[in-house]
Amino acid sequence: MKKAELVFVPTPAAGHCISAIEFAKRLIHTDDRFSATILQMRSLLNPHSDIYNKSLLASETRLHLIDLPPIDNPPPHDLFLKSAEHYILLFIESYIPHVKDAITHLMSSRSSPDSVPLAGLVLDFFCLPMIDVANQLGLPSYLYFTSGAGFLGLMLSLPTRHSQIGTEFEDSDPDLELRSFVNPVPVRVLPEAVSDKHGGYAAYIKIAQRFREARGIIVNTFSELEPYAVESFADGQTPPVYTVGPVLDLGGQAHAGSDRVDRSKIMGWLDAQPKLSVVFLCFGSIGAFDAPQVREIALGLERSGHRFLWALRLPGPDGKLGGSSDGSELSEILPEGFLDRIGERGMICGWAPQMEVLAHKAIGGFVSHCGWNSILESIWNSVPMATWPMYAEQQLNAFGLVKELGLAVELRLDYRQSGGEVVVAEEIDGAIRCVMEHDSMVRKKVKEMGEMSRRAVMDGGSSSNSLGRLIADIIPID
Ligand code: UDP
Repeated sequence: MKKAELVFVPTPAAGHCISAIEFAKRLIHTDDRFSATILQMRSLLNPHSDIYNKSLLASETRLHLIDLPPIDNPPPHDLFLKSAEHYILLFIESYIPHVKDAITHLMSSRSSPDSVPLAGLVLDFFCLPMIDVANQLGLPSYLYFTSGAGFLGLMLSLPTRHSQIGTEFEDSDPDLELRSFVNPVPVRVLPEAVSDKHGGYAAYIKIAQRFREARGIIVNTFSELEPYAVESFADGQTPPVYTVGPVLDLGGQAHAGSDRVDRSKIMGWLDAQPKLSVVFLCFGSIGAFDAPQVREIALGLERSGHRFLWALRLPGPDGKLGGSSDGSELSEILPEGFLDRIGERGMICGWAPQMEVLAHKAIGGFVSHCGWNSILESIWNSVPMATWPMYAEQQLNAFGLVKELGLAVELRLDYRQSGGEVVVAEEIDGAIRCVMEHDSMVRKKVKEMGEMSRRAVMDGGSSSNSLGRLIADIIPID
């Protein structure tokens, strides 16, 4: 029996690496000829901590983790605040020598005829410059794309536009015709990076220019969710696209051991709430709001009259990244008397076990920042969303959900975390009432899509078949 090992290089941020590990697990559980090694860089946001919860890999005998040595000169942190994408790309590029050394070592340890050969690299979005390493070592590269097919379409279109226009997008530019979207796309919902003159645009172009060099593009979506976008890739120029999603950490294992999770308190409170009565608010691993916005959310929740679970984080000391929600600090920020008036009707936490929360029968709606993992988790659990995108490609995801797919209620599509804008209580209240409606069209559609998402990964489902095609590409039948 031919065996094959893949080397995964994920971006060291939770939404990227958990997804990559879960995909590696799916691959090796689907076909026992496979094994995988994950190359782990230091966490982007906290260089002193390992990003992975090792429990994700526990009891996986064919899944290995190599900790790469730290880099000597990480880019200055100021740069992250100026342009996150530029910073991340520089950070990842400085790991190239370590990645090359690790793979060279792996290859030389497999020189005997009965050892398992390396069959390729599976690179994350920001790690695509490592295609050069794969080429130097004679290995194929696959892209593992942790977002959706709509955004993939934007990335594939950028090199052509760049060769014609050569500059960043401006908000005043006309709406964009993209092959992965039915409707013209307003520039305001494109990732902020494409308008960023501090290196963000250049970083995106540098990454986008490598997409077509991949031997295959593996996407964490399923064809029933984004049929129009998926079909647009059959153009004879794009490498084969494998839709293998939803790939999710179903057990919520990645965060289970974290002391940030007050799991039993949250789940106990949810158990006591009626079916579909609670709106859940959560803004990803780094989404944070400053005091004026926190107050408006609180007032919006109060006005709506709905029960709520709110994962609330205030900005960190550098003013931008998701920090903590310390109890004493909160009572100073929230409107006076808010906590007393709310009583048992609501719960505020710092970090929620999101997958478990969304699966709870008490949850009736989700105010989400529209990170791709959150979207897939919400659909999987048939929970309708209200869109409040903040950073990265979330505005484009929100646009797709509301305007193309009818799977979410519009709260905001073009909100930008960096814009200093405050969404007022009235708007928040309106969106919460709408997303919590019991008989809405959005709820019906999300339920249907949720069922499709579960079927997609079953035997004979679209994503399962697509994974089969990927496997046949990696280990061809003799
Ligand atoms: N998450 C969580 N609890 C929180 C915030 C986030 O469990 O309080 C998880 C969430 O379930 C998802 C991931 O963190 O799996 C966030 O990924 P996503 O792509 O939605 O957003 P990102 O953090 O990358 O912006």
